[in-house]
Amino acid sequence: MYDYPNFDGTQACHGEDLTGPAARAFAGAAGADPAPALLLCLDCAFLTECGSYALTHEVYGVWGGTTEDRRDEIRAANGVPAPSSTAGDLDQLVTALSHETSYDRLDRAS
Ligand code: SF4
Repeated sequence: MYDYPNFDGTQACHGEDLTGPAARAFAGAAGADPAPALLLCLDCAFLTECGSYALTHEVYGVWGGTTEDRRDEIRAANGVPAPSSTAGDLDQLVTALSHETSYDRLDRAS
């Protein structure tokens, strides 16, 4: 099980404009175009760490250069079950709160 990435503020998505095109994809908003977020991930120093975490935890939206669908494909191709919602409860809570905050900000901005 991979630990929550040690984000230090240098990750490419840090400070991303919450009204910008990438924000909805990072937040896992339905119908969001993932391309702008995926482009940011490509130049991120946390790409591997972030992607590994996302494959082993129940997270939403773009993480580590992958969409939710892509992570499902990778897991299926490698015979890895989807992460249990009970795994890493604290990490899940932190992630959920982070995304919830993003949604709240998006709602206020629209
Ligand atoms: S890999 Fe992508 S989602 Fe992960 S920290 Fe970097 S920019 Fe953000």
